[in-house]
Amino acid sequence: MAETTDTSTRTGDGRQGYGWCHWHRGHSQTARLVQIIEQSSGPGAGLYACAPCREQRGLTPVADRP
Ligand SMILES: [Zn+2]
Repeated sequence: MAETTDTSTRTGDGRQGYGWCHWHRGHSQTARLVQIIEQSSGPGAGLYACAPCREQRGLTPVADRP
């Protein structure tokens, strides 16, 4: 009788913090969603900015807003 204590299959939910920065138009591991574009049809699009660009433009991630 083998116990399955496999925790390696857990990937967690650390998907945020990696993606594309729309401000300097490049990949960034610090990119966060800072703006949501509402669209009349279909799902809304999001704009992502990396840490340096957020600091430079004074952008606040959507998730950090009250
Ligand atoms: Zn950037």
